[in-house]
Amino acid sequence: MMRNRTAVIGAGVAGLSSAVELLQAGHQVVLIEQTRSCGGRARSFCWSEAGCHVDTGPHLMMGCYQNFRWLLNAAGTTLPLQKRFTVELLGRHGEKIVFAGATKRPELALLRAQGLGILDKWGLIRGLMKASHLQNTTYVEEWLSALHQPPLARHAFWDPFVTAVLNQSPATGLSRQLITVLHHAFLDSDADPRLSISDRCLDELYVQPVVDLIRRLGCEVILGDGVVSLEDNAHGLIRAAITRHGHHIEAESYIIAVPPDALQQLLPASFIPCFRPSPIVSVHALLADAPFFPPGTFMGLLDSPFHWVFSRSVGNRCLLSLLTSHAQKLAGLSPDEITSAARDTLSTFFPGFHPHNILSIISIKERKATYQLTSPGQPFEIAGMPDNAFIAGDWIEPNYPCTIESAALSGRRAAMAVIKHGSDNH
Ligand SMILES: Cc1cc2nc3c(=O)[nH]c(=O)nc-3n(C[C@H](O)[C@H](O)[C@H](O)COP(=O)(O)OP(=O)(O)OC[C@H]3O[C@@H](n4cnc5c(N)ncnc54)[C@H](O)[C@@H]3O)c2cc1C
Repeated sequence: MMRNRTAVIGAGVAGLSSAVELLQAGHQVVLIEQTRSCGGRARSFCWSEAGCHVDTGPHLMMGCYQNFRWLLNAAGTTLPLQKRFTVELLGRHGEKIVFAGATKRPELALLRAQGLGILDKWGLIRGLMKASHLQNTTYVEEWLSALHQPPLARHAFWDPFVTAVLNQSPATGLSRQLITVLHHAFLDSDADPRLSISDRCLDELYVQPVVDLIRRLGCEVILGDGVVSLEDNAHGLIRAAITRHGHHIEAESYIIAVPPDALQQLLPASFIPCFRPSPIVSVHALLADAPFFPPGTFMGLLDSPFHWVFSRSVGNRCLLSLLTSHAQKLAGLSPDEITSAARDTLSTFFPGFHPHNILSIISIKERKATYQLTSPGQPFEIAGMPDNAFIAGDWIEPNYPCTIESAALSGRRAAMAVIKHGSDNH
């Protein structure tokens, strides 16, 4: 057994965060990733037809993503954030609802919303203030009904907010996860709902800087060779991770930072709760320019098959990205049907848009974008794990939705557990 050496399996945000935490504590790390690149579900790829890099889907991050921001800081970079929290939602007939709040009192964004009546705003604030008192509900729908939210408050705030942060509808999203986000974004003393509007793709924003950092710190990075099994020793500990190419990777501890279905394959004898995946569908459209929607902008679309549209510049051209969370309907369509729905959406919401201005267009279905417990009422328990195995991943924090932040948090926690385990046993 190699003292103070940890094998981290999976190089998504969770695995990368574990690796950084361990390397900074002086541990040796080998990071094993089955694909040829790092970043997992939050990564970029080369869209060769358009000659640019795009993300698996546009990612929105918030100022309250403290663990993800820690990861960026460690890599010498920062999350570009709005100066103050602002979200614009556009209706089919050009009507606008705008939430804009002061940094010190973010919850006031709800009270100052433009386009909502006083009863809607009051309903929103009342809902926010009562957030913590209604934790005995299971689903957001029950929670919202108990709060008697006015219809427009639901339509213009709760429904888009819940679908975006939980990647679930109010009927299927868990109220305890929503309440965690409300606390971090609006209610805690250090709450920060400001959104990150990055002009860079995810590879440039965090993947490459973090991979450069861990390599500088001496991490061995194995790409394109996944772990297919874990070999036990006589004491029920993991002795080696066996890769598809037949390598035996030995370490003292193993952090397994993969989605729940992949974990169950590696540890068939362990009990892992059942999860259901939820899809996200996005479309990227490259235009020569888009004066009707300038780069650096994003907007919510009401009553639309696509929920959000983002714009960023790519060289001297403009990339418009449309995204739908909890996208069961869109995920059932063909790529041509999805891109056609995207063209129709842009034509409906932006009179200045002409479909023939599109230079290239691509749709992406991420069927397993996030995971949701199938039996949320039961205690969350992972049992039968070897003593030197530690789990990380966005899905293992039951009070958090699956996000970049919960992935970073879980990765750091797993690394700290490894460090403690090492110091307890030596
Ligand atoms: C389209 C889309 C949009 C999203 N939008 C947002 C957003 O706006 N805001 C937000 O916060 N979150 C968003 N998310 C969610 C966010 O991307 C995830 O929560 C986060 O990236 C999960 O990170 P992870 O490290 O836990 O898991 P993953 O990213 O899934 O990483 C696991 C890694 O393990 C590797 N792996 C699996 N099995 C093995 C094996 N046997 N051996 C070796 N390697 C293995 C995988 O290849 C993968 O690289 C979005 C996700 C998608 C797909």
